[in-house]
Amino acid sequence: MSLHDKSLTQLRDGIQQGDFSSREVTEHFLARIKKHDAQLNSFISVTEERALQQADAADQARQKNQGGVLNGVPIAHKDIFCTRGIRTSCASRMLDNFISPYDATVVDKLGNAGIVTLGKTNMDEFAMGSSNETSFYGPVKNPWDLERVPGGSSGGSAAAVAARLAPAATGTDTGGSIRQPAALCGITGLKPTYGTVSRWGMIAFASSLDQAGPMARSAEDCALLLQNMVGHDEKDSTCLNRAVDNYLSDLGNDINGLTIGLPEEFFPADLNGNIADVTRKAIAELEKQGAKVVSISLPSVKLSVPTYYVIAPAEASSNLSRFDGVRYGYRCEDPSDLMDLYKRSRSEGFGDEVKRRILVGTYALSHGYYDAYYLKAQKVRRLIRDDFARAFEKVDVIAGPTSPELAFGLGAKKDDPITMYMADVFTIAVNLAGLPALSMPGGFIDGLPVGVQLIGNYFREGQILNAAHRFQLATDWHTQAPTFAGDI
Ligand code: GLN
Repeated sequence: MSLHDKSLTQLRDGIQQGDFSSREVTEHFLARIKKHDAQLNSFISVTEERALQQADAADQARQKNQGGVLNGVPIAHKDIFCTRGIRTSCASRMLDNFISPYDATVVDKLGNAGIVTLGKTNMDEFAMGSSNETSFYGPVKNPWDLERVPGGSSGGSAAAVAARLAPAATGTDTGGSIRQPAALCGITGLKPTYGTVSRWGMIAFASSLDQAGPMARSAEDCALLLQNMVGHDEKDSTCLNRAVDNYLSDLGNDINGLTIGLPEEFFPADLNGNIADVTRKAIAELEKQGAKVVSISLPSVKLSVPTYYVIAPAEASSNLSRFDGVRYGYRCEDPSDLMDLYKRSRSEGFGDEVKRRILVGTYALSHGYYDAYYLKAQKVRRLIRDDFARAFEKVDVIAGPTSPELAFGLGAKKDDPITMYMADVFTIAVNLAGLPALSMPGGFIDGLPVGVQLIGNYFREGQILNAAHRFQLATDWHTQAPTFAGDI
């Protein structure tokens, strides 16, 4: 088995046992990136020199019986996480020249666990999008079909993991940005309960929704990565102070008696019949292993897309006001005065989708409209949360498709924002409620992967990871690789 076919867990074990060195593994993935990423565009920056230094340090640590639990394992970070001394662009012209003076807490924690950073992955600009087409650095291609999108906003991370250019990657999910690209690229990705992972050093989009999480090939690898990302951080006031769960030990449980709720709203009449079939088949596999399936209803979930598109832009308009051409990033040439500097730096530095969000958000927060839009949206958000709370009195896990459609063609929705926003129709409610959820590969239609979403109650990451792990022990969808990648 080539190194790139090994899972994160297998690579970790192999390095620990001395079957291969971190340097060998790191060089192997760097070579794959060099060979294949010109086609995919999944990386914005490849940090070869630093990666090899980190790999050598990991190999030395091992010789001395030191090193963290992920010692020497290479991964990639979404370019939304600040990385000291390395460009952190958020895929925006605004931050094209921004070299962060510090590491995000997630980067720091994973670094302490011993990981090697291969580079920074491409994404939608400021994480706004569902197709990775809003990136200043150009779209990412789906490794299953280079004419299609990988999903977004963590499209670079998803494509890189699917194409075996990295064994795993970090992502962020504000409305679906880990789960939807994971679904469209055939990998496993988890958005944790809001507040479980520190947001410090993660460039803010919508602060009450943003959450970082792992993207990998299997639930087991996601659990391993997540274990090393979570924990209280005094630098993020919304990061929860509670004992850290042991996700890996949860993977030993069976799912006998697990109750899975299927919301009728996640299987609408106009849902692609093949996607519904694949989803139901995946759930039937869990049933075979002892899970019980019941029908439920989440009546307010149909309001989640419009609710999100008031709250997220409102928070974004406030968060993005810091990019003014003075404090960070892009500054226009020869400003005539201060007003001109602000105006032109922001007009030239931000792309169209980001500007659209700033305009909508500023409007929704403005005097006279705040009550009608923002406050109203917050009230609906509570109704959505309450729907889930009621459902979780009866069920342990809620399941359905992750995405209403397969990976779509590049350019197919680019000029139609509303259609693009509907790509997250099954994922957004989870963010509004702050719940944990994952997407796992459930099958293929016409050679394209289909994702199945499992939603858990608060802090039940271990339970949904275990359900996905049980599924993956019995199936091999998650081990399929796109053929274009070839072998080196
Ligand atoms: N696609 C959604 C948006 O454009 C969600 C993005 C995300 O989760 N970061 O806002």
